[in-house]
This record gives sequence, structure tokens and C-alpha cells, in this order.
Amino acid sequence: MGDPLPSLMAPDFDVVRKPLHLKHDNGNHTLVPQALLTLGKHAAQRWSSWPRIVAQKCIKCGICVDACPVEGKALQFNDGKRTSPPVYNYSKCIRCFCCQEMCPKKAIDVESPLLYRLFRKRS
Ligand code: SF4
Ligand code: SF4
Repeated sequence: MGDPLPSLMAPDFDVVRKPLHLKHDNGNHTLVPQALLTLGKHAAQRWSSWPRIVAQKCIKCGICVDACPVEGKALQFNDGKRTSPPVYNYSKCIRCFCCQEMCPKKAIDVESPLLYRLFRKRS
């Protein structure tokens, strides 16, 4: 039924799994100055929720690390031996929460900023 599948496929479609950079190849920013970008990045990180591993529940399986779509990973085991849970690099984390969704032990909590919690209680 319908069009043949190969005619609908785009084999050269490139999925870019990294934070948005509004830069030309020559390094110039396209839409907003660097100061605004930096400010926006800090504001987003300060105001958005973040994942946190509960060490007591973590079995160090590494599924969360594998699930992280960020190039170079936003959470990693500090050692190759997996003696402790993975550690986040929040400056790289895009807050997609794939790690939290994939954790088989529900060992990843979502922490919310204080202001967010205050507003939420009032609404
Ligand atoms: S997926 Fe969950 S249990 Fe496995 S290493 Fe990550 S936090 Fe720990
Ligand atoms: S929230 Fe997304 S980007 Fe951040 S560590 Fe988890 S999987 Fe990686």
C-alpha cells in the first residue's frame, strides 16, 4: 500500500547529536553575539532540571553512558573498572534525560532548581 519505502528514505540524512552552535565555519556567529550565547547557556543550565545518580541504587551497568547522545558523552565512568557510578559533566549535558529513561534500576533522579520548585508549589 502507498509509495514504495525506498522512495521515502533519505540515506544521506545526518542526525546531529550535539548542542546547537550558531556559528559559521569561519567562526563568526550567525544570529546573536557570543556574550548572549554564553549568558543563555548559563541561564539554561541554572534554570533547567538536571539528572543525578543515586549511588546506592546504581549497579554500574553503563547503560546510561551508552544512551547519552552527546558527542564525547556528558556522563562517563571516571575509571575503566567501573568501581563507582558514572559522573556527569553538566556543562556538556543537554538535559535530554535519555540516561534517566534507560536506567534499569531507576537510579537516576531529576533534580529541579529551587525557583522552579517554589513556583510549582504555588500553581
Ligand atoms: S544505567 Fe543506572 S544503574 Fe546503570 S550505570 Fe547508569 S545509573 Fe547506574
Ligand atoms: S540528560 Fe541526556 S545529555 Fe545529559 S547526561 Fe543524560 S543522556 Fe546525556
